[in-house]
Amino acid sequence: MWCNEMNDIKKQNGALCGSVHSFETLGALDGPGMRTVVFLSGCPMRCRYCHNPDTWEKNEKEVMTASEVFQKIKRMKPYFGKSGGITLSGGEPLLQTEFATEVFRLCKEDRIHTALDTSGAIVTEQTESLLKLTDLVICDIKHTDQDAFLDLTSYPMDSLLSFLELCKRLNKRLWIRQVIVPGITDNQENILKLKDMAKKYDAEKIELLPYHSHGVYKWESLGIPYTLYGTKSPTEEEMKQLNELLK
Ligand code: SF4
Repeated sequence: MWCNEMNDIKKQNGALCGSVHSFETLGALDGPGMRTVVFLSGCPMRCRYCHNPDTWEKNEKEVMTASEVFQKIKRMKPYFGKSGGITLSGGEPLLQTEFATEVFRLCKEDRIHTALDTSGAIVTEQTESLLKLTDLVICDIKHTDQDAFLDLTSYPMDSLLSFLELCKRLNKRLWIRQVIVPGITDNQENILKLKDMAKKYDAEKIELLPYHSHGVYKWESLGIPYTLYGTKSPTEEEMKQLNELLK
């Protein structure tokens, strides 16, 4: 179902278009330096802790051409400095691979650093073209155990593993991320397996991010049942202990 939707790329006057949820300018959390983060709409996963469930569905009202997106990014270029650039996030940017590739192609022509913030949810024959224009992959590994992954995301882990294999084959610069959800991902076995995965796929960095419930109001306003009520954010001490395991 999702692949069909992904291939359903709209053209306006021959131009490649995508569904763009929003922009964040001068973000410092999604890649090196100061960045413009472009959130694309549509995601096949249903992570129980998602703080952007409003990006799950593609929205016909949010359609932009790749060139329009690039022009917005280019305006911020003076602020990127030596290490900043653009990060494509979502949602799941791999759901609009052809559009993402065109945005990155325009950025690379203008020597703008490109980062792809993804969960590796979809791999097609077009993914390699996108990765060849990607300077940095930031890959969110929701869980290291297949069953727990499925339970947390309602989505199988297979695509993620294929995506990581492809990143390795293309020798991509890779950062790995995981959200630490108490009772779900905060166990030693999972963190040690994450460390093994980082080694296997030559990741240069692992970031553990504490779960927070800031997005719950969006679930409530969309009328989607939230299943993590009562889950607290991990403490600084707990995060420190888990980070110690990665050393
Ligand atoms: S992959 Fe990201 S956008 Fe998609 S459901 Fe999970 S947290 Fe939300």
